[in-house]
Amino acid sequence: KIKVSGGQGFRFYAPEMNARALERLDLEADLRDAIKNGGLALHYQPQIDLRNGQIIGAEALARWPHPRRGWISPGDFIPLAEECGLIWALGAWVLRESCRQNKEWQQLGLPPITVAVNLSALQFTAGDVVELTAKTLRETGLAPEYLELEITESAAMSDMPAFITATQRLKGLSVSLSIDDFGTGFSSLSYLRQFHIDRLKIDQSFVRDIVHDPSSAAIITAIINLAHGLNLAAIAEGVETEAQLQFLRSHDCDEMQGYYFSRPLAASDFEVLLRSERLLVFPNETLAPQRT
Ligand code: C2E
Ligand code: MG
Ligand code: MG
Ligand code: MG
Repeated sequence: KIKVSGGQGFRFYAPEMNARALERLDLEADLRDAIKNGGLALHYQPQIDLRNGQIIGAEALARWPHPRRGWISPGDFIPLAEECGLIWALGAWVLRESCRQNKEWQQLGLPPITVAVNLSALQFTAGDVVELTAKTLRETGLAPEYLELEITESAAMSDMPAFITATQRLKGLSVSLSIDDFGTGFSSLSYLRQFHIDRLKIDQSFVRDIVHDPSSAAIITAIINLAHGLNLAAIAEGVETEAQLQFLRSHDCDEMQGYYFSRPLAASDFEVLLRSERLLVFPNETLAPQRT
């Protein structure tokens, strides 16, 4: 990792650094190509209403099946896209494809659901996400109430004035907004009142330990109460077990998503699921005798 700047502007790189830099450039070129030529995919994870077990939404999650490297996860290629300026093209494609797909499901007569799209902080601070959203809705014909935009709590905090302005304008379009990974981004809670949002998504790190760690349980309960106190819905992500589900239901959490019900699915598999109108059958739910 030796880098020497010579007096006449020469630069010497250690060979392995050169190799890594070249590999990165390679990957960057591949990503640019994938965005342009339909090489990315979206998977959809169902979101479930905890009162009745129905599918009410789908979170669209980007996937990159790389021709030589196999599947690359968004945790790897989203930061790359942010660093090399591809996030706008990528974000525009994800938004358009999600809206187009949801509109198609509606035209097939499937039960209407909301599609939730993840946005990067850069789309709020350095790009016109409001204009992009308005244009995408217009061009795909999806009604705004069937689109939700997600932004992580830490991204929202990174430029609060920009975020507050953008959420206000997005509300004007009638789309829904949620704060993702809530509980990990150190919000100044007083600012929540100024965000024009609809839902808090409880980070999966709290859900994971819900049953065995009293502090996780306390945080989840507090987030649910906070959400309801502010007239917001609470959704838990990363629900994997029946015990987690039971805890969330008994603490009035509104919605959930996670492997317990379904992993993120290819569009065609999600369509089959939606068509089946499969419900989450709540375990241990005894039909209580009518109290009279
Ligand atoms: P996220 O928005 O918080 O998405 C939830 C992540 O948890 C997804 O990972 C999902 O596959 C995973 N997950 C869902 N249920 C479970 C479960 O029961 N257990 C466990 N252990 N994990 C579960 P994924 O798809 O790898 O996405 C990672 C992150 O990448 C997302 O976190 C999101 O922040 C970002 N991302 C994904 N797609 C996009 C996109 O189109 N645009 C942007 N800007 N970011 C994206
Ligand atoms: Mg998300
Ligand atoms: Mg999340
Ligand atoms: Mg996350």
